[in-house]
Amino acid sequence: MTKGKAFVSAVVAPKRRVTEAYWFAFQEDKLLVKPGSSGMSVLRLMDFRELGLPVLREHYLGRLEDRECYAVQIADAVPPPKGMTFEGLRQVYGLIDEDLFSIAGRAAQIIEWDVTHQFCGRCGTKTRPRPRERAKECPQCGLLHFPRLAPAVIVLVRHGREILLARARRFSTNMYSTIAGFVEPGETLEQAVVREVHEETGIMTKDIHYFGSQPWPFPHSLMIGFTANYAHGEISAGDGENIDVRWFTAVNLPSLPNKMSIARKLIDTFLEEQKSGRRIDSQKA
Ligand SMILES: [Zn+2]
Repeated sequence: MTKGKAFVSAVVAPKRRVTEAYWFAFQEDKLLVKPGSSGMSVLRLMDFRELGLPVLREHYLGRLEDRECYAVQIADAVPPPKGMTFEGLRQVYGLIDEDLFSIAGRAAQIIEWDVTHQFCGRCGTKTRPRPRERAKECPQCGLLHFPRLAPAVIVLVRHGREILLARARRFSTNMYSTIAGFVEPGETLEQAVVREVHEETGIMTKDIHYFGSQPWPFPHSLMIGFTANYAHGEISAGDGENIDVRWFTAVNLPSLPNKMSIARKLIDTFLEEQKSGRRIDSQKA
């Protein structure tokens, strides 16, 4: 749900490059970036090979406005070129442009998929890339392997002037966020919302409305955002994922997730509602 410049995904690279391209270069799970006075930037070069780094694989990603975008994987243990560093995606989150961050997430997932789908999951034969789509094919049994995506629901539960937030065990800070969890096979998104909120907090929900979505590349999730209303139930310790679950009002909010996250966009929308007295069910386009 980036506000965004137009990114057009594609698999086949242009024959000739006429402008500098963006290069999303990863070493293991770290992105090659150039730190500057106002955050960090992604490499822009005519050809990545100008840097002389050993490239293990390259994928064309598509075009962001007039710039081609590529993902490359660099061999392990090679030092970064002068003035650049390798940084985890979580570390650059909020420090690079939002559109570029989202393409970096895409790049990381495509490299990871390429690395982990070298052999057929059914018969073990070496796979080969399909020339015009993001897929690998087994030449022996024909099984197709596409990049993996794990859908997860994320939900802002409201009860009058209060919202339900949780402090997850996995958070390194004392931040509170909206309730989230993976969708199970055979489940609708709405069922996943009801189950997750109940499992994690003890609360039952109703009036579930779609809000918006956000790719989340840790490692390959798609966060699908909803709002819901409190139906009944009391807060309970839940399934152990959370250290604390509480109702908060607009005036007693705890430390919140980064502005770029869908969790924060859900919370900010609630805060706008509180100010304007109008209910907004989905994000503004
Ligand atoms: Zn096979």
